[in-house]
Amino acid sequence: MIIDFHTHVGDHRTPERMDRLPVTWEGLIERLDSEGIDKAVVLPSGVSPESMKAPFLFSPQVDIIGQLKAAQQYQDRIISFGNLDPRMGCLGNLEPHQVENPPETDFSWILARFRELGCVGIGEITANIAVDDPRVISLFRQCGNFDLPVLFHCTGPGRGVYGLYDEVGLPRLERLLQAVPDTTVIGHAPGFWAEIEGDITAEKKFVYPTGPIRTEGSLSRLLRSYPNLYADISANSGFNAISRDKAFGVDFLTEFQDKILFGTDVCFGGQDGRMPHLGYLRGLLEENQIAPRVFAKITGENALKILKLYSSDSKPSEEKS
Ligand SMILES: [Zn+2]
Repeated sequence: MIIDFHTHVGDHRTPERMDRLPVTWEGLIERLDSEGIDKAVVLPSGVSPESMKAPFLFSPQVDIIGQLKAAQQYQDRIISFGNLDPRMGCLGNLEPHQVENPPETDFSWILARFRELGCVGIGEITANIAVDDPRVISLFRQCGNFDLPVLFHCTGPGRGVYGLYDEVGLPRLERLLQAVPDTTVIGHAPGFWAEIEGDITAEKKFVYPTGPIRTEGSLSRLLRSYPNLYADISANSGFNAISRDKAFGVDFLTEFQDKILFGTDVCFGGQDGRMPHLGYLRGLLEENQIAPRVFAKITGENALKILKLYSSDSKPSEEKS
């Protein structure tokens, strides 16, 4: 079974590029059919202001619950994730002692509602705060309590873009992984994938670094050291990382065959946003660069392994715990 672990539905155009097409539910299913993909994880958009472009406000389903309810028409093809922002949870006016020690937000009732709606994971997290911000650690820990893996967009250091930020070497991600050993954490985006190479500069965490990989990066070390870390190869960042140095990429895919998830992150309708990932993996398989087992795990088996709440006939159900 082939699963695209990273898709979105809605209007992700920018005001400057309104000639592109939004992704509709029908368009998503059509793309899956034409590319030979069985199922798609849909990550709801629109939860964090940093990641919202104005045209999205005019999408048919601007809110997450609207997107989840629309997805229920396609239960045989769509795997639903919930989404929320770690900064949610203002408790109103704080007492003086709470100003110094703000109470930890209880996300459990939200996560329980997402599970009732059939969600089997959370993401993608796009808030522009630190990967090891206490609010992120708290949310991720609570997701683990509900058997919900969390997928996040990782960007370079500092504020001003979207996604959780980290420094060179991913020290904040390492602290998060240590703090939430029972939560499956899935990384993606330039700040994550630039770390396939060692000795990078901070600037490289915002772009798609090219050329051969001379020294192994912190990503390999973290994938080896932390059983709860997974890597989503979607978007240009992931594709660039696994293909910029073909031999290194093949070794990386083979070593981490149990930790890598195929995804596309297609954000536009029609042919415009189509992604090369699956064709590239199929090519490596045909050339015997990767083994059939490696291909099967990366394109579907790993997804089914970590989506503990998902079964292909899963329906929205009552919260168990
Ligand atoms: Zn995405």
